[in-house]
Amino acid sequence: MLKKVLIANRGEIAVRIMRACRALQIPTVAVYSTADREALHVRLADERVCIGPPNVRESYLNIPSIVSAALSFGADAVHPGYGFLSENGDFAEACQRSGLTFIGPRVRNIRLMGDKPRARRVMEKAGVPVLPGTSAGTTDVREAQAVAAQIGFPILLKAAAGGGGRGLRVARSPEELAAVFGVAEEEGAAAFGNGAIYVEKYLEHPRHIEFQIVADQHRNVLHLGERECSVQRRYQKILEESPSPILTKRQREKMGAVAVKAAEAIGYTNVGTIEFLLDQQGHFYFIEMNTRVQVEHAITEMVTGIDIVQAGILAAAGEPLPWRQRDITFSGHAIECRIVAEDPRTMLPSPGTIRGYHAPGGLGIRVDSGVAENSVIPVYYDSLVSKVVAYGKTREEAIQRMRVALSEYQIAGIKTNIPLHLQILQDAEFLTGNIHTRYLDKFLTRPIARPAASAAERLVVNA
Ligand code: ADP
Ligand code: ADP
Ligand code: MG
Repeated sequence: MLKKVLIANRGEIAVRIMRACRALQIPTVAVYSTADREALHVRLADERVCIGPPNVRESYLNIPSIVSAALSFGADAVHPGYGFLSENGDFAEACQRSGLTFIGPRVRNIRLMGDKPRARRVMEKAGVPVLPGTSAGTTDVREAQAVAAQIGFPILLKAAAGGGGRGLRVARSPEELAAVFGVAEEEGAAAFGNGAIYVEKYLEHPRHIEFQIVADQHRNVLHLGERECSVQRRYQKILEESPSPILTKRQREKMGAVAVKAAEAIGYTNVGTIEFLLDQQGHFYFIEMNTRVQVEHAITEMVTGIDIVQAGILAAAGEPLPWRQRDITFSGHAIECRIVAEDPRTMLPSPGTIRGYHAPGGLGIRVDSGVAENSVIPVYYDSLVSKVVAYGKTREEAIQRMRVALSEYQIAGIKTNIPLHLQILQDAEFLTGNIHTRYLDKFLTRPIARPAASAAERLVVNA
């Protein structure tokens, strides 16, 4: 078993990983930048070490600094969380070269899935459906034009090394493609240090449905069902739920089997997520695999009763999975609201110091948070403050509990998107479950002022 884990992350996921380590009786080492001296993850760890200044390149993305911190504190494993170095093959390799267990899949799995057009190619070969498009990244706009002419507009330009919803641009004509190609390229280069772009057929109103994979080093691969992540703003998830309000048991089994096949095809060995788009005709297509724990993993934990973070740690330690697919059962419904520090009017980040903090509770409510009273939300990092998860026997019960929880959540000193979540949770369309990835953008541009819900909507809410 692992003896000591260094957590190469911050915020709520660092706290979440510490909780899992504590349950497994593994001591933890926190790393922090000088902007995070007083942060909750630093306080809750068994040991802590400053790895550099606020700038991520010099701290949370600083591979030599993190590896030497792990070695000098006697850690034998490193957990990368999500974001930062979690999908960086060089980091996983540096850990292994120093004799540290990287809590994640093998280096080649990370590198393969981090090259999104290559991942498409490998999946297609393995019999997993992908959308028409290119199978290699390019910086040549003519190549992109040729593919677009072949598959037909609209198309989506995607950064080959993309993540976090960045580097995506829709083009509906050759002229538009010519105009946005450079923008996508620059965005990819700035965000990921790689400007290569690939082309994919653009689906107009798909659903984002992803499957949680759990795998060990002994060829056991299972899925833990799906998460519906169609409530997105600028290609970023805001609210997720499990199960999807529309999948039938047969569709779940079919898509789940394909997700398992996809993970098996590359010899996957830890927790990960296969993301699909589902079109209005019921066809589904692989878009990418995230080779790490996902932000929204908690909703799957609620409906399966499986601790996904612990499962990843145990798999990295070489333990065989204690379940077979038939042991995985689903019960009830869970919703997650991502609480981010932003001005709900302008949607700009709202850094600052949290005052008057009171987190919600009660039956079926779980708050995974990286903050407490007087916590600082620095300008340097992701604006995710916490995740509120509501569980109920039915979708309606989970929604009702979430509404109560969010209305009692008190966070002063910074602005948050709680008002937006409350509006979504009383929107008639959301309540029917009839949503797609463009749903929220449409909702936000509706002409009527939102808080004054119509009488009809109130009826739906109270129904
Ligand atoms: P999830 O579905 O788990 O939310 P995302 O792709 O949205 O996956 O990314 C999860 C987190 O990682 C977000 O906080 C996002 O801002 C961050 N992130 C994603 N890709 C990168 C990257 N290449 N470098 C740094 N942070 C990233
Ligand atoms: P990221 O690595 O940034 O998460 P993804 O490939 O997972 O990138 O895509 C992010 C989101 O962009 C999806 O959830 C979906 O809303 C949208 N998207 C991606 N590919 C397509 C496509 N081919 N057609 C329509 N929407 C897409
Ligand atoms: Mg994605």
